[in-house]
Amino acid sequence: MTAQIIDGKAIAASVREKVAGHVARLVNEHGVTPGLAVVLVGENPASQVYVRNKGKQTKEAGMLSVEHRLPDTTSEGDLLALIDELNNDPTIHGILVQLPLPEHMNSDLVINAIDPSKDVDGFHISNVGLLGTGQKSMVPCTPLGCLMMLRDHHGSLSGLNAVVVGRSNIVGKPMAQLLLGDSCTVTIAHSRTMDLAGVCRGADILVAAVGRPQMIPGDWIKPGATVIDVGINRIPKEDGKTRLVGDVDFDSAVEVAGAITPVPGGVGPMTIACLLANTVTACCRAKGLPEPEGLTV
Ligand code: NDP
Repeated sequence: MTAQIIDGKAIAASVREKVAGHVARLVNEHGVTPGLAVVLVGENPASQVYVRNKGKQTKEAGMLSVEHRLPDTTSEGDLLALIDELNNDPTIHGILVQLPLPEHMNSDLVINAIDPSKDVDGFHISNVGLLGTGQKSMVPCTPLGCLMMLRDHHGSLSGLNAVVVGRSNIVGKPMAQLLLGDSCTVTIAHSRTMDLAGVCRGADILVAAVGRPQMIPGDWIKPGATVIDVGINRIPKEDGKTRLVGDVDFDSAVEVAGAITPVPGGVGPMTIACLLANTVTACCRAKGLPEPEGLTV
């Protein structure tokens, strides 16, 4: 059996199309342009690429995109002052502080300084609490993108056994909350889990968010299961160049799973599409306007 490939690029394109349509209605009917501010501190090359892509796609969707690039010598106080300014800027509906921050900064303090209603990454402690108690919140982009792909593939997820490998605050934990919200029976596995292979074999839905290249082989996967591979790992090729792989060994997993996301072209494109979706949602909430359908949970 060969698994169906869940095409994250195509689903992300349809999310971006919905976002752009809603932005056009906001501009034309209400005179409101959703605005996203992205703050990058330092010179991390991967972060620079992410920030560039985010800005480009924000503009393509018809939104206002503002970038603040600060040197890594910036003091925490200066960053907090900028966040305060953005919190009070009525043209800005979403604020994203690109992580990781330089070591001299306290990331929790910085993230929790963002107005929760503008926290389009969904990392503010208020949004974490709202999600955990099943209330309307800003939902972290990567898990939201994974849930959209799962709903797109399965329709209802109710009653399915879901295993999330990884318990980070940005992927694993919110992913588990979302799956629970959709009535899955959820297990969260991590580096101390005993018999990880056995735990994974019980999964109808397996989400891998570990950061270890090709760690999960095909024989850990239940035949017919849906596999969402969040991992992005760069490994060397024979020609001295590098390539991206996920946390799942795609070649063996594709023979067993019912459906699987590729790396690249799976979860990655969905993450940015969901950032745009969250910005539109935040804008609608700020203005008391109806929220776009299908762009949040
Ligand atoms: P973290 O490093 O924060 O968390 C990794 C988790 O994996 C931890 O909970 C850790 O367990 C667990 N883990 C580590 N080793 C093992 C092991 N041998 N067996 C079982 N569990 C293990 O990573 P993130 O959650 O931030 O990211 C995970 C992956 O997803 C990375 O590859 C990252 O690049 C990618 N990513 C992709 C995104 C996208 O848009 N596609 C967005 C965000 C992340 P413990 O807690 O016990 O240490």
